[in-house]
Amino acid sequence: MASLKHFIKSFFLIELLQGMALTGRYFFKRKVTLQYPEEKTPISPRFRGLHALRRYENGEERCIACKLCEAVCPAMAISIESAQREDGTRRTTRYDIDLTKCIFCGFCEESCPVDSIVETHIFEYHGEKRGDLYFTKEMLLAVGDKYEAEIAANKAADAKYR
Ligand code: SF4
Ligand code: SF4
Repeated sequence: MASLKHFIKSFFLIELLQGMALTGRYFFKRKVTLQYPEEKTPISPRFRGLHALRRYENGEERCIACKLCEAVCPAMAISIESAQREDGTRRTTRYDIDLTKCIFCGFCEESCPVDSIVETHIFEYHGEKRGDLYFTKEMLLAVGDKYEAEIAANKAADAKYR
């Protein structure tokens, strides 16, 4: 009896028709897949992507070299050296993040008292060798300068939850 059923199913291509019926059911439904990279999903203001160092509107860098981010980083990915400037303020002379160590936990951003180090919404970056993912202060400031408008907007959107 079972073999007869199997024969009828195979002869009339029942399973193929069932599969096509399933395809047909979803053919006219709202599409849930995206054509990445042309189409993208919305990103939360809290998204933790590529790091950046920010400046104030007058161009002065925010970081005061307190080293809280370096101390809190569980991956020990941040290296900071600092010096006093002629005007008596303290600034970093070196601020490096090794992104091959970073686990994108966001602790550095949380700990910063002046909103200097942040994690941006940028996730489309890569390195072709290990050194490419070693970001220096100049590189981090350049990311901050380029994306300041988006960074500020994301900070403002998230401010009421902090
Ligand atoms: S996101 Fe976390 S692991 Fe990465 S640099 Fe900041 S504190 Fe360190
Ligand atoms: S980025 Fe923020 S937490 Fe890190 S050293 Fe500078 S001021 Fe301190």
